[in-house]
Amino acid sequence: MRFDIISVLPGLLESPFAHSILQRAQKKGISEIVVHNLRDYSTQKQKSVDDYPYGGGSGMVMTIPPFAACIEKLKSERDYDEIIFMSPDGETLNQAIANQLSIKKNIIILCGHYKGIDQRIRDIYVTREISIGDYVLSGGELPAAVLVDAVVRLIPGVLSDETSALSDSFQDDLLDAPVYTRPADWNGHKVPEILLSGNTPEIEKWRHEQAIERTRTRRPDLLNRGE
Ligand code: SAH
Repeated sequence: MRFDIISVLPGLLESPFAHSILQRAQKKGISEIVVHNLRDYSTQKQKSVDDYPYGGGSGMVMTIPPFAACIEKLKSERDYDEIIFMSPDGETLNQAIANQLSIKKNIIILCGHYKGIDQRIRDIYVTREISIGDYVLSGGELPAAVLVDAVVRLIPGVLSDETSALSDSFQDDLLDAPVYTRPADWNGHKVPEILLSGNTPEIEKWRHEQAIERTRTRRPDLLNRGE
């Protein structure tokens, strides 16, 4: 799976993809993440990519030509399944969206800045708009990194223990059960006995009950989904 991320601050995206699971996915050749510097596609003298908003008001607006040039170049090289714009007014990212995207092949992600991007880029090119939550960040880079992480870890072969993604919170509309590791007794705080029993079916049952209980108390809205 390939991601092409278009950004005016590509440096912001270096570290998130250079460690741990995302790094491993790229080394294994399972995912390819390419960051494009929007300024490279500016034909302006100062390599500018923004301009004053029509109608006045505060904040600069990202212009069409650099985005159009970069997107057109990419589209001439391969077919894209989605062109996603990270935006606070998009659909809120959740596990279902991450699952849908994890079976795609090529995705372009546009990162906005300043006041946002010219609406016509959205109208002409963008196929999907995704928000990572009801708050405003200064740029689309961190949201893009969040999206790519959520998607890539779902691709088969990325996580070493494949079942671990399946039991994560939200994967089946349930939160994950609590987890414990050594020592079994920390200053009198003991690990639940059942986890030391070695009785796998009983442990699975306990985990399922804990997951339901946790979901009921913390996110009852999840239990009523799909009804
Ligand atoms: N004026 C815009 C916000 C611009 S913030 C508005 O009110 O909708 C600058 C850029 O940061 C956005 O274009 C978007 O790409 C990114 N961004 C900010 N918050 C985000 C969020 N919650 N989810 C996804 N992208 C976000």
